Amino acid sequence: MKKTICFGILLAVLLSFCGCGSLHQEPAASDDGLYILTTIFPPYDFAREITDGVDNVTVQQLLRPGMESHTYDPTPADLIAVQNCDLFICTGGVSDAWVQTLLEAVPGAEQKCIRMIDLVDAVEEEHIEGSTHRHEHDHDHEDDGEDVHDHERTPDSDHIEYDEHVWSDPHNAMQITEVLCDRICLLDHVNEARYRENTEEYLQALSDLDGELHRIADHAVYRTLVFGDRFPMRYLCDAYGLGYRAAFPGCAAESEPSAATMIFLIEKVKEEGIPAILTIEMSNRKIAQTISEETGAPILMMHSCHNRTADEAAADKTYLDLMYENARVLSIALGQRNE
Ligand SMILES: [Zn+2]
Repeated sequence: MKKTICFGILLAVLLSFCGCGSLHQEPAASDDGLYILTTIFPPYDFAREITDGVDNVTVQQLLRPGMESHTYDPTPADLIAVQNCDLFICTGGVSDAWVQTLLEAVPGAEQKCIRMIDLVDAVEEEHIEGSTHRHEHDHDHEDDGEDVHDHERTPDSDHIEYDEHVWSDPHNAMQITEVLCDRICLLDHVNEARYRENTEEYLQALSDLDGELHRIADHAVYRTLVFGDRFPMRYLCDAYGLGYRAAFPGCAAESEPSAATMIFLIEKVKEEGIPAILTIEMSNRKIAQTISEETGAPILMMHSCHNRTADEAAADKTYLDLMYENARVLSIALGQRNE
């Protein structure tokens, strides 16, 4: 509640300045061109691919490289960016509470917003065997008058927590790209032919990635991945029939696994002779290190693609680059039969 009021006041002040152009900030102006704004990396990359080579299109990501997407605190410049953009692409789901605050603070923002989670078959976050799971009334401790239900999109979503990492499955990436292309063509039909041509090409590249992941899964010696970390790769695992165990489901906020979880994961790795322990990017790797020390299995990193690090952004890594690196890691973590 407090946050919403602050935002309201901030917005009123900012917008009153905005009109006379005295505010100097980073976001692009949307004078004539098309301005596409995304919260995290995957849709930013998809939109870049779709609009590649078209003049007067700005694609921008709110989260700068290296920033954590679940605990992000929007800045005044972000409000202006949302206000100015023609299309706003976010994830949806519980991790997007801060996005919801932004959307509520900017009049008309909801109408230009696309949530990736709405474009695919989203699955509920599941309680993975052996993982440390947050308690139902976890929010109680922050009950300082803030109504947590503010953040929920529909009345019946009260107890449903969707896993929002839909982009980790290339099939979903394709589906999202197709919808984004249609929406972008509606906003700028002058360049429609080019957008559609780019999209065709990109869908083919995503389909090639899918083929590679199938090949790796088909040749797997082991069928279970062990994440000594959070687990934002559920959709990827489901798409290729891979089992998984993890310290925490989804992008849970916990950082301390229970003793039972640690024992479970260590035993799992030992029993099945699992060749590698997985972590995700920007992790402190503490849990994985402990499991690695106990089992001798090396640690490998899978990239959930939420956001790029500063180095990855400097190298202009794409979703495809990061996913092919994931494919390489998978081939080690699953082992590969020769045939
Ligand atoms: Zn996440």
